[in-house]
Amino acid sequence: MNIIVCIKQVPDTSEVRIDPQTNTIIREGVPSIINPFDENAIEQAVQLVEQYGGKVTVVTMGPPQAEAALREALAMGCDEAILVSDRCFAASDTLATSYVLSNTIREIGGYDLIFCGKQAFDGDTAQVPPGIAEQLGIPQVTFAIGLEVDGKKARVRRLLEDEFEVVEAKMPVLISCVKQMNDPRRPGIKAKLAAKKKEVKVWDSACINAEACYCGFDGSPTRVVRTFAPKRDIEGERFEGEPADCAVAVVERLIGQKII
Ligand SMILES: Cc1cc2nc3c(=O)[nH]c(=O)nc-3n(C[C@H](O)[C@H](O)[C@H](O)COP(=O)(O)OP(=O)(O)OC[C@H]3O[C@@H](n4cnc5c(N)ncnc54)[C@H](O)[C@@H]3O)c2cc1C
Repeated sequence: MNIIVCIKQVPDTSEVRIDPQTNTIIREGVPSIINPFDENAIEQAVQLVEQYGGKVTVVTMGPPQAEAALREALAMGCDEAILVSDRCFAASDTLATSYVLSNTIREIGGYDLIFCGKQAFDGDTAQVPPGIAEQLGIPQVTFAIGLEVDGKKARVRRLLEDEFEVVEAKMPVLISCVKQMNDPRRPGIKAKLAAKKKEVKVWDSACINAEACYCGFDGSPTRVVRTFAPKRDIEGERFEGEPADCAVAVVERLIGQKII
């Protein structure tokens, strides 16, 4: 079984800061991690290959430093890694990102499954996985919490707000994963050292036959007009002391304000 996993390197979420002038994320000096949902995607892919054989190819579109995310993915058990990187990809919105990733996947070819995370912690749109599937002309199943493979069919359990849904799709299919799907493995030192020695291929726009007009700023119809933190107009109140006394004080305050 040949599986492709798309991962995004994102800033560590607790430290995301936006430049008010450019409306873009300030990345300088901020630690980066693999988007957490993408770790579930990697884990699912590696487990399937452990069970059925085949290989996992991990792909990211990003600047040269995104190689670090690919090495982590290799340490988790992925077999091959491709960094898709080109100056003309900068400022891509979700449509342009999907274009670049779908061209990359076409170039890799011979895949049965594509895994993505449910959404990225920084952009947060959840538009890239459906965009890739659409551009490749293959089925997609989002918000997967479980998966069974039966011949050339994938039976996917989806997580909805109050219920589960089970759907079947013919492979190749793109599946986006939620965090309840599995518990991603934490690679040890040995696996991390081995991953450092593995090859990470670097592909530019020519390698994936990408036309510049569909990439980056030129290929992006979306503009982020403004990004801002919501204004806090309610001040919180802190109760200090023994927990039991604080609980009584909170209840009295809520009763006093006719909230309960
Ligand atoms: C604050 C902010 C707001 C933004 N708002 C918009 C907007 O409104 N509209 C818009 O079009 N763009 C927006 N962008 C740009 C957006 O971040 C990029 O287009 C990004 O490359 C993909 O979108 P996403 O992060 O929302 O990914 P999502 O669609 O949320 O990502 C879902 C999954 O797709 C895969 N994936 C996503 N990006 C990559 C990648 N580079 N390489 C490999 N796999 C990937 C991963 O598996 C990921 O888990 C915004 C960016 C920021 C920082």
